[in-house]
Amino acid sequence: METVALDLDRVLFDTNGYIAEVRRRMEAAGLNPEEMFRRASVGKRKDLSTLYSIVSRLADADSIFVEPMDGFVRKEVKEVVETLAKRFNLVVISVGDGLQHRKIATLPVGKLVLVEKDEEKVRMAELIRPAVFVDDKKSVVEEMRSRGLRAYQAVWFLDEKHRKGCLEDALHSPEDLLVVLDGLDR
Ligand SMILES: [Mg+2]
Repeated sequence: METVALDLDRVLFDTNGYIAEVRRRMEAAGLNPEEMFRRASVGKRKDLSTLYSIVSRLADADSIFVEPMDGFVRKEVKEVVETLAKRFNLVVISVGDGLQHRKIATLPVGKLVLVEKDEEKVRMAELIRPAVFVDDKKSVVEEMRSRGLRAYQAVWFLDEKHRKGCLEDALHSPEDLLVVLDGLDR
């Protein structure tokens, strides 16, 4: 079975929608979201676990970050991933930490590989050599392509600004990925 490698945030998971909801939940718990995000980014990369541990000292962090989380894996994405899982070995390569598992708990993904930065993600993809790699970041896709990998930019979860500057052959809906993969078989 061939491998298809996918990024997690803003490809499988509506990260922008999730962050907006986390901010709302922080406010509802009497916390100042700006302050929480600022504290979490001091001296280190901003990751969800750092934010989680800061919030956990002040409020019930699970009710802010984890419950519920499923709604951010959109129906269209779930359907496409379920279709792909029948034909491909699905590997998710994501920058992040243990909380990433929770984000895609409802998806039939074979493996989740966690890396610390984009460069590592590219190196990991080079090792795996998937039939196709999908990421929402243009720079990552371009780097993969420069190394001879077949990579596509997914823009379905991006905001207007990032969508405007996207690659010409970007995938605008999860179904577009099925079209790309069908093309490979012929
Ligand atoms: Mg991403």
